[in-house]
Amino acid sequence: MTLPGGLFRDGNLHLDYRFKPVTGVLERAFAESGLNTDTLPRQVSRVLASSLAELGGLAVDEDLVRALSAGDRQYLMRQLEALIDPGPRWTTVVCRGCEEFIQFQVEPGDLPVKRAGTGYPHQAIQLTQGEAWVRVVTGADEEALARDVGDAESGIHYLLQRLVTVGGSPVDPRRLSESDFQAIDDLLDKMSPQPALTALVECPYCQLAQDAVLDPCAWLARESSALDQDVHLLALHYHWSEQDILSLSRSRREIYLRLIEQSLGRYRADDLIREAAGRRR
Ligand SMILES: [Zn+2]
Repeated sequence: MTLPGGLFRDGNLHLDYRFKPVTGVLERAFAESGLNTDTLPRQVSRVLASSLAELGGLAVDEDLVRALSAGDRQYLMRQLEALIDPGPRWTTVVCRGCEEFIQFQVEPGDLPVKRAGTGYPHQAIQLTQGEAWVRVVTGADEEALARDVGDAESGIHYLLQRLVTVGGSPVDPRRLSESDFQAIDDLLDKMSPQPALTALVECPYCQLAQDAVLDPCAWLARESSALDQDVHLLALHYHWSEQDILSLSRSRREIYLRLIEQSLGRYRADDLIREAAGRRR
């Protein structure tokens, strides 16, 4: 598997990555990744650091996944969702025209991805104040932005100071012209890898075509409560410890859950037959 952008270390571009096998232990780590973490970018760093087995032969830790571009991180979060639960899923949005619910199917592993463009991850650009260097947004930028900045206006200035340098020093955003802003924006668009964050859907009621937002991190919140239910059911029926249940792969866990469902169905059927036999006696 390769990243759409990749990580430069010691002059080499590292593209290959591999996830660990998904077991309950890993899913528990996802479920608990939000504890004592006040921002989503921090949570994403935790999730990726705990789930990647390797990244271009480099040792994976939170600092490494923080150095990844924002697009690579979004891409990895989506691939992780596809790994945990492959196959299509239903998504619901409210129509912007008639406000009816639109349902459509999404397959996370199959969504389009724009690979990094020429110059990635940093390139020179001509601004009104002279030559400048622009680099793509990383996880570290996302974390800092979420931690330090409240509103969007100061967020843009904060981000530009991190991404753009003139003569080796952070740019002064107040000195950027309208065309400078545009040129930086265009260059970042061109350079940055980016998984699709929207899908074009047509409302079946009013036929309005519109972009539906696809959040690559939305699955994180759903994971936690579903896992607790699975553990509860398996512990109840097999009397296994939480540790034992969490060490099962997701597919093994689902097989046992199906067996429980089947046996519950059979017991109920047996009860009915026994009841009926009892009445006849
Ligand atoms: Zn509509």
